Amino acid sequence: MRYDIAIIGSGPAGLSAAINAKIRNKSIILLGNENLSNKLIKAPMIDNYLGFYEISGEDLKDKFRDHLEQMDINITSKKINNVYAMGDYFALMSGDEMIEATTVILATGVEYGKPIKGEEEFLGKGVGYCATCDAPLYRDKKVAIIGYNEEAKEEANFLSEIASKTYFIPMYKKEGLMRSSNILDNSIEVINDRPIQIQGDNLVNKVAFKEKEIDVDGVFVIKDSTSPKALVPGIETEGAHIKVDNNMNTSIQGCFAAGDCVGKPYSYIKAAGQGQIAALSAVSYLDKLKIK
Ligand code: FAD
Repeated sequence: MRYDIAIIGSGPAGLSAAINAKIRNKSIILLGNENLSNKLIKAPMIDNYLGFYEISGEDLKDKFRDHLEQMDINITSKKINNVYAMGDYFALMSGDEMIEATTVILATGVEYGKPIKGEEEFLGKGVGYCATCDAPLYRDKKVAIIGYNEEAKEEANFLSEIASKTYFIPMYKKEGLMRSSNILDNSIEVINDRPIQIQGDNLVNKVAFKEKEIDVDGVFVIKDSTSPKALVPGIETEGAHIKVDNNMNTSIQGCFAAGDCVGKPYSYIKAAGQGQIAALSAVSYLDKLKIK
């Protein structure tokens, strides 16, 4: 099956894109996670979302979820690792699975924190962002997962079946762990310390903390958002953001983007507004293809 529109991201930008595309009768797949967005559920109090003064992030999430249910929109809980422009369609890779769509809307948010020292330098040389994609390379080797969210535990469990030793380094607060329904495998060693550097010669061989080091062959950094250039090869960016015009067109035909991933201000209502524009632009692009 080839979808009209694949939407990557279940934050306000992706959700708004999904409801607007559905209203326009397009076949869609909305990829993200059941929590919708960690940045949404973490907000203690929101007072700038029109119509919902002083609402908590959790409550706004419930409103969004209710809206999706009423419109019969489902979220497919999958992480997309790469998006390839194939000419007249896009191939979205999730592990070894491929999803096809005529257009794509990127609504992947942005990573607020700076990368760890060495993370960018060793990307592809022992540092990766997708454990499920690269796991076979680490059979009987030592790996560390630096996890910025709960989903990272799933990747750690998966790797622990293959690797000889798996470390899990949580970069989020303990409450996150308590809320988790994901249990880490007993064989995984949890390190509750902040890594200060990923080190190596040509390839990664260590993760350094303030007072100790661990020997590793690979490091997976699991974040909420993926760097746009790593996700969509060839896409134009401006700093950390995807370059778009006023209609949310990216530099790749048929590929649109919205929300934090295209720039500041980082805000729910701006993300939702841009999600709508991206969806309408995708609809108009699809309609023009039909006429041709
Ligand atoms: P996000 O909400 O970040 O959603 C991105 C989604 O994409 C996530 O679900 C992520 O899992 C998914 N995703 C990313 N990559 C992939 C992939 N490769 N495959 C599949 N899914 C993927 N803004 C306000 O306006 N008011 C506030 O009061 C406010 N308070 C905040 C409080 C906190 C603590 C934080 C952290 C942020 C706050 N913000 C606030 C900012 C707001 O959270 C963001 O601007 C907003 O969430 C951006 O929405 P988005 O849809 O662009 O991205």
